This record gives sequence, C-alpha cells and structure tokens, in this order.
Amino acid sequence: MGGMKYDLIVIGGGPAGYVAAIRAAQLGKSVLCIERGRVGGTCLNRGCIPTKALLTNAELYRTLSMRSAEFGIRTGELSVDWQQVIARARSVSERLSNGIAFLFRKHKVTLATGEARLAATGQVELQREDGTTELLEGEHVLIATGARSREIPAFPFNGKTIINSTDALNLPELPQRLLVIGSGAIGTEISYIYHSFGSQVTLVEALPHLLPQEDEELSVALERSFRAQGIRCLTGAKVQSLEAADGAVTATLSTTEGQEQQLQADVCLVAVGVVPVVPEAPGLELTERGFIKVDERYRTSLPRVYAAGDCIGGVMLAHSASYEAVQAVEGMFNPAYTPRRPEHIPSCTYCHPQVASVGKRERELRAEGVAYKVGRFPLQASGRAVAAGETEGFVKLLFGSEDGELLGAHLVGANATELIAVPGLALNAELTDADLHAMIYAHPTLAESIHEAVLAADGIAIHA
Ligand code: NAD
Repeated sequence: MGGMKYDLIVIGGGPAGYVAAIRAAQLGKSVLCIERGRVGGTCLNRGCIPTKALLTNAELYRTLSMRSAEFGIRTGELSVDWQQVIARARSVSERLSNGIAFLFRKHKVTLATGEARLAATGQVELQREDGTTELLEGEHVLIATGARSREIPAFPFNGKTIINSTDALNLPELPQRLLVIGSGAIGTEISYIYHSFGSQVTLVEALPHLLPQEDEELSVALERSFRAQGIRCLTGAKVQSLEAADGAVTATLSTTEGQEQQLQADVCLVAVGVVPVVPEAPGLELTERGFIKVDERYRTSLPRVYAAGDCIGGVMLAHSASYEAVQAVEGMFNPAYTPRRPEHIPSCTYCHPQVASVGKRERELRAEGVAYKVGRFPLQASGRAVAAGETEGFVKLLFGSEDGELLGAHLVGANATELIAVPGLALNAELTDADLHAMIYAHPTLAESIHEAVLAADGIAIHA
C-alpha cells in the first residue's frame, strides 16, 4: 500500500465513498479507500439496509398475526424469535458489505481499514486498530465520512434506555414500552417496526405533523394510519427532559399550547437528526453547522481535497450522497466536466403505509406563487391494490396549470417507494401531463394509479 502514489484516496466507505472509489477506478485511476468499520457505511451496516430487513420481518408478522383469516391462512399461535429477527438483519448487512468488498477487488480498488487524517497536501495518515500508522500519498483526496446521530446534550445516549438508531437495530429484546423522539424517517420507520412486533410505541414530534418535511397531505394520511394501527402519535410536543433510572426512562414533554406531560418508557430512541463526521484535517473550512464547505465542484478549502455525501450537508440521503460522489469524481479528473448538484431527489419512508415523494410540495408552490393543478387517485379504486388487500393511500400529482409540466409527486401506500421512480423520471425529463397520459400502463398494476392521477388532474380519471 505504502510507497505508491494513488490518483485518489477516498476517506469513508459509505454510499458516497465506495461509489466514488468504483467510479474513479472505472475511469482508470488508482484508488485507495480508507474505512474504519465495514464498507457500506451507515446505510448498509447501521441504516437503510438492516432497517429494511427488519421492516420485511415486521410486515410479515403483522400480516400473519392480524390478517391471516382474511387471506384464508390458518396459522395457529404465532410468536416472535427476536434474536433471529435481528440476526437476519445482520446477515443481510454482512452479505451486502461483502458484496462491496468484492466489487472493490473486481475494480482493483485497494481497501484499508483504519482511521484516516489529512496530514499535509496529498498526504493521508492511516491509523490502524493496532495503533500503527502509515503515511499514504494521493494526488486527490475525497472526504466522504458521513454523519452520526445527533445527541441531545442534556440526555446523552447510554445504549440501553436512551438509544440512537444504531442501538435500535440491535436491541437484545423487544421493549414493552418504546418512546421515540422525532418523526423524521428514522423515528417513523422504527416506530412502525417495533409497534408491529408488539411494543407499545409513543412517537413524539415537536412540529405539527409526522414526517414534517413531506407534503402535508401525506403527513396527515400517515398520522391517521399510525393512530388507527395503535401507534400513539404526539405532534406539536417537544421533549424537554429525559431521566433514566432503574432501567426505565421518564420524559417530560411540553406541547405548543404550553402544557406539560410526563411519559414513562422502557427504552427511548432519540431520532432528532444527524451531525456531520469530519476527519482531522488542519485548515479544513466548515460551515456554521459543522459541515465541510465545498464549492460547485465539490472542492474543499484544502488543495485537491474534495468532499461529498452527508458530511457536506444538504439532503442527507444515501442516493444523493452517491450522486454527489460521482459528480465530484467526474469533475476531479475532467476539468471540462461541470459537476451538478442533486436535483429532484426522491424521499422515501419505509413504514406501512409507505410514503414517497419527489419534486415540489404544495406549500412550496403556493409560497412561490406558481399556478398549479392537482390530480389525486385513491388506491381503493385500483384493481391491483384491491386484489393485494392494500387499498390504503393515494397518488397525488402536481402539474403547472399552463403547460402541464410535472412539478411534484406525493405517494402514500403500498409500493410507493418503488412507484416514485416513474414521476422521478418524468421530472428529470421535464415531462407533462400529456406525456404521462400518452404512456400505456400495464394492467393490473399499482402504476396505473399514476396514470389515473394524471387524468384526474385534467378531470378525466376513468376509475374515480
Ligand atoms: P430528521 O431530521 O429527518 O427528523 C428529526 C425530527 O425530530 C424532526 O421532525 C424534528 O422536528 C424532530 N425533533 C427534534 N427535536 C425534537 C424534540 N426535542 N422533541 C420532539 N421532536 C423533536 O432526522 P432523523 O429521522 O433522525 O434522520 C436522520 C437522517 O437520516 C436524515 O437525514 C434522514 O433523511 C436520514 N434517513 C433517511 C431514511 C430514508 O430515506 N428512509 C431513513 C433513515 C434515515
């Protein structure tokens, strides 16, 4: 490893780092990727992927325990083997992480395990777990070190009763009472998973709605569904203090009306966002909120040092991180290339019902004074949804009034996170209601709901 000068040293092996490393290798560059844990980063090892594995178990258990009679299946008594549930999620992560290590070998990307710090221009120091260090040379460096759970200083994580999302994926047993603070994607997904397995879940959100970043109609639909399922949702309620004693937690909440309330739980998940992880790098300029400052080519304040992914802020999602990383690499090795920032980034929350969106929300269009029309289609009018027993939710599309250009898509319901790719493509290609109308949608599919919502925007829906 030492003694050689790499074209690129990537610090961090998550969705920004590993994708950057592979893309640079495809361009014929010599690449070293330094990762202190397992390749795949948060997404693959402690985030998106194990959560989705747990979610699949939760969906299965929920269907069998609550709807088996409806589907004509006799199950007898059901029970949960929690250790196996967790073990399955771990093995899914492990398999995919090994897959990335394989891709690295295939593309001849060198992987080094340890902690990296920028020593000087073109020099990165690697510190291995055994304490030994090595100075490595790279023509370019890409920092892709991600982010970690934000801790509320007054009540730090203790890994047992006050936990972060990583702990939530590895709890030794199902808590009887789970309190979740924050209803972003993490709080919402974990609430759904644990409730499905039988925990009593209370989800507390300081803002007026769950998933407050989404179009309000989606948030309201999700709240209605969560409450009907039995998840206690306290919106407009801020957690002021948490006290952990005798293996339990007591939370004091204040509502927007100024009332105080106390809640007891066995475990409390704090999911109130993330903070950037920044490697030691003398002279590296940060924003006020601690993210790495980059210019339009993803260049940091240090010469030939770039950064991409969660550590630069913006929309902190795996898919935008990978996009930024590829843009950074393309620009790094080709001065004629103009790197782009991610646009039309889909947002997906994997609970039941699923929530997915891309493009503008209605409140943004109103604030911008854009004239728009709305097309909605309820899944209860979709033959495919009725056949699957998944009639909860709807498709909502927003088009410009004058030219009919698609402006935003907001979906709640079965497979919403897969379906969102269709309006995502339409937004990127600047398609209109007429273009989306002209396409033939296979029958019976949930995708037909998108067609019907397009028609509904023009008042000509067939099935609603
Ligand atoms: P988030 O910022 O999305 O949501 C945090 C929520 O906590 C906000 O709605 C905020 O109003 C609320 N909050 C803050 N302080 C509070 C308090 N004291 N009391 C009550 N509510 C409070 O953060 P997150 O859910 O922790 O997710 C972290 C990051 O990981 C985000 O960037 C998210 O997009 C990403 N992520 C995405 C997915 C996905 O795409 N499915 C899944 C997991 C995580």
